[in-house]
Amino acid sequence: MNIIMLGAQGTGKGTVAGLISEQTGMPQISTGDIFRENISKKTELGIEADKYISKGYLVPDEITIPIVKDRLTWEDAQKGVILDGFPRTIEQAEALDKMLSEKGEKIDLVINLTTPKEEIIDRMLTRRVCTNQECKAIYNIKLHPPKKEGICDKCGSQLKQRKDDSDPDAIERRLEEYEEKTSPLVEYYRQKGVLKTETVSTSINRMGQDVAKEIIEEIKSK
Ligand code: ADP
Ligand code: ZN
Repeated sequence: MNIIMLGAQGTGKGTVAGLISEQTGMPQISTGDIFRENISKKTELGIEADKYISKGYLVPDEITIPIVKDRLTWEDAQKGVILDGFPRTIEQAEALDKMLSEKGEKIDLVINLTTPKEEIIDRMLTRRVCTNQECKAIYNIKLHPPKKEGICDKCGSQLKQRKDDSDPDAIERRLEEYEEKTSPLVEYYRQKGVLKTETVSTSINRMGQDVAKEIIEEIKSK
C-alpha cells in the first residue's frame, strides 16, 4: 500500500505520517527531512537545496525527483511507503506514477489535510522539532507541548524552531508556492479516485492524531 500525505504547511502531515509509520511499520519518506539532513551535514545536495528552502521556494523537480526515485529502491520501501511532502508539483506526481508503475504498484490513498489559513500560520510559528536526526519528533508549544520545555519527550534531545518557520517572508512564500504548485494535486488525485480530505482544526477539536488513529484502524482492518 502506498500513501501520500497532501496538505499545506503546518496542517500536520508529518505528525500523521509519523504515527501511521510507527503503527504499521511502513517507512515514512519525507523529502523535507531528507533535505534538512543534507543541510545539516553540509552535503552538496544540502547546500544546493538550502538556497531554495531558506527562502521558502520549492526545490526544483530536477533535484527532488531523483532523490525519491532512489529512495524507493531501498529494501524497506518494497511493501509500500508513506510519502510526506512529495509530490508537490504535477510533474512530481506524474514522475511518481511512472516510478510506481514500473514496479507494478500505484498510489492507493492520498490523505489531504486542510486547516484554516490563520491557524496554519500560527501552527508554523509554534512548531518545534527535535534536533536528533534519528528522532525528528514534532511538537507544538501551544497544541502539543513537550512535558519539559525545549526537550524532546521521546529522546531527551533539544528542540528547536526550523529556520523557515521563524521567517515571516519564508512562511508567506511557502503558502504561495503551495497554492500555485501543490494545490492542483488535489484535483489530480480526486480524478484518480484515491483522495480522502480531512479537516484538522482546533475549531472542531480535531487534530492530526485523531485523523491518524482512524486511518491506522482502516489500514489494519484491510
Ligand atoms: P513544510 O510542509 O512545512 O513545508 P517540509 O519539511 O515538507 O515542510 O518541507 C520543507 C521545505 O523543503 C519546503 O518548503 C521546500 O522548500 C522543500 N521541499 C520539501 N519537499 C519538497 C518537494 N517535494 N519538492 C520541492 N521542494 C520540497
Ligand atoms: Zn527526539
